[in-house]
Amino acid sequence: MRTCVSCRQKMPKTDLVRFVFKDDVCEDERQIKHGRGAYVCKNEKCRETGLKKNKLHSSLQKVDRRNRKTG
Ligand SMILES: [Zn+2]
Repeated sequence: MRTCVSCRQKMPKTDLVRFVFKDDVCEDERQIKHGRGAYVCKNEKCRETGLKKNKLHSSLQKVDRRNRKTG
């Protein structure tokens, strides 16, 4: 189960769209790209919220920062 970054609901990965952070946030349609991912529901509302409010961006960046730990 994965958590949607917009509505925080837990859903099976197949019901969510995966995004990965690679220089910028990009959609991972087939959920196979390397790197840390964040998930949002497939509905427009959650996608929009995730992208517009930069929830995806910030949640992915947080992970990114944690990984590097270089300061
Ligand atoms: Zn959602």
